[in-house]
Order: sequence, then structure tokens, then C-alpha cells
Amino acid sequence: METSWSELSFDIAKEIEKQIMPLFGKEEAGKVVGTNVSGDVTDYVDRVSENVVISRLSPLGINIISEEKGFIDNGGEYTAIVDPVDGSYNFVSGIPVFGFSFAIFKGNRPIYGSIYEFITGNFYEGIPDNGAFMNGERIRVRKPEKGKEALSFYSRGEFPELVNKVKRIRVLGAIAVELAYLARGALDGVVDVRNYVRYTDIAAGVIIAREAGAIITDDSGKEIKLRLNATEKTNIVAVNDQELLKMVLEVIERGN
Ligand code: MN
Ligand code: MN
Repeated sequence: METSWSELSFDIAKEIEKQIMPLFGKEEAGKVVGTNVSGDVTDYVDRVSENVVISRLSPLGINIISEEKGFIDNGGEYTAIVDPVDGSYNFVSGIPVFGFSFAIFKGNRPIYGSIYEFITGNFYEGIPDNGAFMNGERIRVRKPEKGKEALSFYSRGEFPELVNKVKRIRVLGAIAVELAYLARGALDGVVDVRNYVRYTDIAAGVIIAREAGAIITDDSGKEIKLRLNATEKTNIVAVNDQELLKMVLEVIERGN
């Protein structure tokens, strides 16, 4: 029997929720308890939530690629690439945008992705070639209205021209959740060109947004290929429309 990835990931998300929500917005949630495989600090909330993931997946023989501990080889044919809490700064600071991000690969092939948004309780899923869903209902990207685009744009101050070319900039601090918003038609694009995001942050979001009709490339317009890697960083341009993609890439290529 195939595992129900939907049930499994939802269960894990709910368990994490139970353990972390009492700490939401509290200083102790942000207590530094170590450093992760990428050399960033591990907050208490990251540790607690990752422990839930490991204790649930390891007995099932599922390999794990997670933000803090990196690759855990459990000798399985499936690998989960997980960000237990994407947006932990928001969590610690009491900003209600953060989520659980979970993607499953069979060998090197992505077969399932889900994102659970703790505060709204929305559960997003993507199944390659089978569509994207929010709480079980089909979702699609929207068609952008020219001049009215809403874009999440991370650039450390580079390419400021892009800011003037769209109507709304919304930088929410949890890229997994932002990709889910793109998928359900709440944002027109999610662009991060800081060479900062890792596959743990974006794997589920890419699967879900693609199934919802998004186009997702690197900063040179080449389709992003998800990699089972915890430390490698990448740029991402995820949009709901070919023309918007062209506009974003033109600005980035011109370098202003
Ligand atoms: Mn995280
Ligand atoms: Mn993250």
C-alpha cells in the first residue's frame, strides 16, 4: 500500500502545531540552541519542530532532508525534504505568517508536496500531474492584470526598477507560504534573487505552485529543478504568467 502522504504530512503538521503554538511570539521560542548544516543559527522552535519530523518519519524508513540536521539516511526509497517551520523569524516575533513545508521524492522524482499554514489552518497540496489543492479543493494561479500585479520580491536592494513596475510588493518572510499564495491566486509572483533560499524552503511550494499553473525558473529563466540537497542555495522566479516572467527576467538581466 502506498503511504497516504496527505494524511502523514497533515498529522505531522498538527503535531508540530500542538508543540510549538504555546511558544508563538515568545522570546524563548527564539533561544539559540545550535547551528544548522548551513551554518545558520537553530532556534528552539526549529529544534522542537524538526524533532517531531524525525521521530515520525524515521520509523517509516523515509529518508529526511531537513533544514537543521541536513540529510538523514534511513535507507528508504522515499525521501522527504522538509522545512518544519518556514518563517521562524515571524513565529518568534509573533508575525502570523509561517508554515510547515513537506515534499516527498521517490528516488529523484517529486511525487507529493504539502504546506500547512499554522495560523489559518489552510492545507495546500500538490501532486505532480494531478493538480494543486487547498483544503481538498482545486486551486489555480490567477491571471495577472497588467499594472496591478502583486509580487513578493527579495533582492537585498538590487533591481529596484522591478518595484516600480508592479502595483504591490508584499514581502512576507515565509517563502513556502508565499508560493502557496501564488498557487491559490493571492500573489502574482514570488521572486527571490538573493541566492539565499534552499530546497528545503521551496520544494513543496514549487510542486504546489507548478501544479496550480505557475512558471518557476531560476534567475536566468531556466526551469528550476528541485534537488535533494539541504545546503545548496538558489534563486527563484515563480510567476503566474509568461509575460510577467519576461518582464521580471528583463529587469534582472539589465541589472538595475
Ligand atoms: Mn525553518
Ligand atoms: Mn525556511
